[in-house]
Amino acid sequence: VSFAHLRLPKELLDGIRKNNYSKPTPIQAQACPAGLSGRDVIGVAETGSGKTVAYLMPLLVHCAAQTELKKDEGPIGLVLCPTRELAVQIEKEVYKFNKLLGLRSTTFAGGLSKYQQFKTIKGGSEIVIATPGRLIDIVKMKGCNLRRTTFVVLDEADRMLQMGFEDQIRSVLQNVRPKRQTLLFSATMPPRIERLAADFLEHPVRITV
Ligand code: AMP
Repeated sequence: VSFAHLRLPKELLDGIRKNNYSKPTPIQAQACPAGLSGRDVIGVAETGSGKTVAYLMPLLVHCAAQTELKKDEGPIGLVLCPTRELAVQIEKEVYKFNKLLGLRSTTFAGGLSKYQQFKTIKGGSEIVIATPGRLIDIVKMKGCNLRRTTFVVLDEADRMLQMGFEDQIRSVLQNVRPKRQTLLFSATMPPRIERLAADFLEHPVRITV
């Protein structure tokens, strides 16, 4: 399989070429088409597998398609992850592609300036990458709302639960409209993650690499 087979918009294919990603990794070859088709996805994959690009391509295409929405609101696409370090890594991957589709991205995580985060989100941001605790703080402070959020990624779900974020994740998902697309990525699938997936994903495609 090549990236050309994944039916991505030309802008994203150009971005992939520019970053010298010569061919999709196994998780990308399977999760991109499933995500692009609008399905919920469970991806059992480790860091290093290329999982970030696997969910970013469908997320970016989804966000770019929602052009009729008001520009100054909260995220259309939301990525939840366990740590600031991972948030910053995801942000780097987003920055390789979002401008190509005219999309803006903001990162909310502990240890980053709340003031700066408020300022960036104020003008509108189609994409937010966040740790669950910080996202809830900012929503409570009315710095951002999830009214137009329709695409959610839970990245490293097992680590988020190990870190005690289960209640926060459930609270965020309960506050996102049910008519949405949800992708869950996890290195392992213990019973608590299976339950989380059963509660919040609909007929997911399951991909194990
Ligand atoms: P991840 O598993 O998402 O943390 O990605 C691991 C690393 O692989 C990151 O540095 C990506 O930039 C890189 N990467 C992602 N997809 C590809 C690809 N198809 N070909 C080469 N490198 C990639």
